[in-house]
Amino acid sequence: MSDSGRMRLAEIEAKSLIQKSKIPSIDYVINPYTGCGLACAYCYASFSGRLVGEPVQAWGDFVYAKRNAVELARRELAKMPEHRRQGTVLLSSVTDPYQGPECDYRLTRGILEALVAHRYPGLVRVLTKSPLVTRDLDLLACLPRVEVGLTVTTTDDRLSRWLEMRAPRASARLQALAALRDAGIATFAFVGPLLPHFVTAPHLLSQLFGQLAGAGVREVYMEHINLKQYIRERMQPLLAAEPGEVQQAYLRARSREHRQQLDAIVPTLLAEHGLRLRFDEVVYHDEFQAKGEGP
Ligand code: SF4
Repeated sequence: MSDSGRMRLAEIEAKSLIQKSKIPSIDYVINPYTGCGLACAYCYASFSGRLVGEPVQAWGDFVYAKRNAVELARRELAKMPEHRRQGTVLLSSVTDPYQGPECDYRLTRGILEALVAHRYPGLVRVLTKSPLVTRDLDLLACLPRVEVGLTVTTTDDRLSRWLEMRAPRASARLQALAALRDAGIATFAFVGPLLPHFVTAPHLLSQLFGQLAGAGVREVYMEHINLKQYIRERMQPLLAAEPGEVQQAYLRARSREHRQQLDAIVPTLLAEHGLRLRFDEVVYHDEFQAKGEGP
């Protein structure tokens, strides 16, 4: 295992790659890496480190690259029966497919090449926080059905550094969305988690929607924050340094009442910017997360 700064990078041999999914609207998930160096404080995939013996507290400090991921993708796609090929594939559910190591490993690129080679007819949905996704525009353009989502939770770079400490800046993600749109690729934005403090600062949410619309986004997928115990523990030290009202917003965010308040402000703001809400609701679910999946 190599140690680059705080992030440890190792290689593993995976037994399988394309996994059936319990996420609503997703049939298969592909995670080329275990772990994620982007280290978002709110990440509810942080429990998935247990697959490689890493504790929740170490989330963001390790990435295991599945060195045989491309070979597995080719093999598993070749064996996939025709009726299963209509399924929607998500790349990725518990890691970011375009995080730093992808620059060298090119596992996500190799998997896309395999999907293109097999002319995968189902929808391929890519979800990332990294503008590196634009490197693969050539392949994305060759897939019969594809859409690319960039997660953007705030346009406030200070907040972004706090919550998504090693993720690319929001402005870079917005530029990536615009580049994808310009290349004719269907895009969407994932506003997840919907940050609790928007309840008292709706103008900031309006600002975010405005910038998404400006980047050519027409559809937004939104999710309420999930503050399960293990996530609260990760966020605790970060929250302690924030102003009282921010701490209060995160404390209240676990209540149904808080979610209802957010739900009430979202439709008007979306309409102001001509944005559609995927599934017609801000999703709140956690039943599938215990099984090792999440968007
Ligand atoms: S980019 Fe996604 S998978 Fe990675 S730490 Fe952030 S929320 Fe988790």
